[in-house]
Amino acid sequence: MSGTYVVRTFGCQMNEHDSERIAGLLEADGLAPGDDVETADVVVLNTCCIRENADNRLYGTLGHLKSLKDRRPELEIVVAGCLAQKDQDSIAQRAPHVDVVMGTHNVHRAVDLLHERRRGDQPVVEILSETVAEDHELFPSALPVVRQAGYAGWVTIQMGCDNSCAFCIVPAVRGPEISRPFADIVAEVHRAALDGVTEVTLLGQNVNSYGRDLTLRARADSDAVDADFLLGDAAAAAAQADPEANVRVRPLFADLLRAVGSVPGIQRVRYTSPHPKDLRPETIEAMASVPAVCEHLHLPLQSGSDTILSAMHRGYTAERYLQRLADARRGIDDLAVTTDIIVGFPGETDADAEATLEVAAEARFDGAFTFVYSPRPGTEAAELVERFVPREVAAARMERLRAVVERSSRLGNLARVGRVEEVLVVGPSRKDPSRLTGRTRQNRLVHFEPDGAVRPGSYVQVEVVDATTTHLRGVMRELLFAPTHRVRIPVAAE
Ligand code: SAM
Ligand code: SF4
Repeated sequence: MSGTYVVRTFGCQMNEHDSERIAGLLEADGLAPGDDVETADVVVLNTCCIRENADNRLYGTLGHLKSLKDRRPELEIVVAGCLAQKDQDSIAQRAPHVDVVMGTHNVHRAVDLLHERRRGDQPVVEILSETVAEDHELFPSALPVVRQAGYAGWVTIQMGCDNSCAFCIVPAVRGPEISRPFADIVAEVHRAALDGVTEVTLLGQNVNSYGRDLTLRARADSDAVDADFLLGDAAAAAAQADPEANVRVRPLFADLLRAVGSVPGIQRVRYTSPHPKDLRPETIEAMASVPAVCEHLHLPLQSGSDTILSAMHRGYTAERYLQRLADARRGIDDLAVTTDIIVGFPGETDADAEATLEVAAEARFDGAFTFVYSPRPGTEAAELVERFVPREVAAARMERLRAVVERSSRLGNLARVGRVEEVLVVGPSRKDPSRLTGRTRQNRLVHFEPDGAVRPGSYVQVEVVDATTTHLRGVMRELLFAPTHRVRIPVAAE
């Protein structure tokens, strides 16, 4: 193929990760990154369906693309991702100007489907119902990639989810949980490091259950067990020395943190999301002892009311959550904690909302993604129509919750004033291009005055001189590391 492409990403990191792979496939097929949708030959919309406004944004964008396509009929439009998986044929019906509709399990097919479309005269719709687990090559992380930022890489460690949170559509659109083989992940991180990546973020819906299915497969077919990666080096040596020894046969998420954290060139390891019910002491121990693993835990709370947590099927109480958080803070020095909270889940009373405020205050979050509950057709909670919380009640609860989170995040930021922080430079600040923006190990946003020319991907020491609720302000003191690779940004996040 020739011409240019643009990929627009709606939604979460998993989608950003898949978009980078779709961009990689398109470039491998000869397309070049385009500047904007107005002039691109191929436009890919990688969609999300976690909340309703994502649907609205997709159909709004498709409306705009329709007028572009009327002017330039050669424009090719691809809709990929969760919404495509969920709505399947109805996208092609509602928007017949779309050329290809593809789901979450066939990212690897992006280019083939475009070619198929060119050979025929009808839109191509391909939605697979699940990932082919046996074929490791089909894990999107194994595909060619064009990274949004050359120094940072997303790596999928598991796909899908085996939980059944009552509000959540992920299991329906991403399928059951499948762990990616340990050695494949580590090899991917080695390759990324050779490409100049210094920060990796491991992605999964419930990262702490990583490896559960590898155990089952290992037991079902013991010949398939590769001791070097399923058992870890030490365990493999023990097994060799004493074949009768009782060695662990499944890798833990903690093993993965250790392995990825020791890849040469990798300076920071992040991950998202751990499920509070599965946060294990081993993970906390690995976070504390592996220097590359950042002191940041994103631990989604969802609600502080036990009644609502139970109705959501989250598998923990508020007390248990706070205990796990306390364990993590005790184990990991200088830990920053962020969370996700849903306001207005069906049946949420004033007392439930109050409980969430109390738990949020006690947890002293450094930041939170707060969402108003959005019914997703096909999920259990979407059936509870008579218990839906009125929009204005949810909005008022949200405002109070935000005030609580902002208070603790401001205090957390203020506590950094006077410290010198290691910052990974992202680029010029949007509001004031004479300043640079970056992230600390705790994932705090920093705007700072640079000392000379500093490229994105550099690591610098910044003295924090001031702080607000959303960011730190500082002055650069020292350049620690300059990247050796060029940075390109062809994929636009919405
Ligand atoms: N696997 C992660 C976990 O268990 O915490 C969550 C992944 S989900 C992509 C990200 C966040 O979206 C959730 O933590 C939740 O707060 C929010 N979310 C999911 N479904 C939602 C819904 N129907 N309405 C509002 N927020 C929702
Ligand atoms: Fe959704 Fe729950 Fe799975 Fe997270 S753990 S993806 S919220 S079902």
